[in-house]
Amino acid sequence: MRTPALKNPCWTAAGWAVVAVAALAAPAAATAGLPMSAADLAAPAAPVATRIISFVDGVGPIVDGPGKPGDEGQSGGGDLSATAARRQCTDGAYSRTGWRVSGTLKWYYNGAGAPSSVSRTAAKTTSTAVSRLVKGYNDCGLKRSFKVGQKYAGTSRRAPAVTATSCGKQDGYSVVGWKKLPSSVLAVTCAWSTAGDHRVVSTDIAINTRYKWFTTKPGRCSNTFDLESVLSHEWGHAFGLGHVSLSSHGTQTMATAVGACTTAKRTLGLGDYRGMQRIYGLR
Ligand SMILES: [Zn+2]
Repeated sequence: MRTPALKNPCWTAAGWAVVAVAALAAPAAATAGLPMSAADLAAPAAPVATRIISFVDGVGPIVDGPGKPGDEGQSGGGDLSATAARRQCTDGAYSRTGWRVSGTLKWYYNGAGAPSSVSRTAAKTTSTAVSRLVKGYNDCGLKRSFKVGQKYAGTSRRAPAVTATSCGKQDGYSVVGWKKLPSSVLAVTCAWSTAGDHRVVSTDIAINTRYKWFTTKPGRCSNTFDLESVLSHEWGHAFGLGHVSLSSHGTQTMATAVGACTTAKRTLGLGDYRGMQRIYGLR
């Protein structure tokens, strides 16, 4: 098991900041990373403004295995085996980061550096992923959405404030974009929230250009990742969901890693749904 590293807290211009790097699953990792939510990190009491957390999300083995040919698309994008699909809807595990979006999260997309395979579809897929998250999209028969909103505000030239596996300087804009990140990382989410009541000030997501991505699963898929599944997970962080362990809760979208060529994490599992319900309540 890999223990997340807590980097040394430090003072910044914005005030006290805690930078945490969550479990990172390397491509060849046989065991899952140990989940740790930001809520687990005891932030020292300080008279402050902002705290920063980054989640670094790696590549993992496909713990659930691919579904039968033809499963794809029939359940809204899932490709789980029947057993895994059951587990996805009976495993209620979740963790919280401790922050929440207040009202409506306004976000931008920056397509600079997007791989050509998804450059024309990535903005729409990003929007689909966050829309589905707040609507509680699932294959478990849960019908209600959450009391939180999101709004796509257009394209932006601002880069996500993500530096390799940590966070850069918060600029007040929530941006999803592309960046060359370390090879063990699929994507990184940073969120800045108020120290007092932990409302999200802004949140940035960087997707790693080192990997191959798809928005529509190709007939012959190899070593290529589903952008929507990964973004569902990253948006989960942005809205306050932490990790659950890959080994125990691998069917949940918020498990620490995702395999290539699976679209199973486009939908929320029971735990993902309960986590969002706990934070925001149901409409
Ligand atoms: Zn994550």
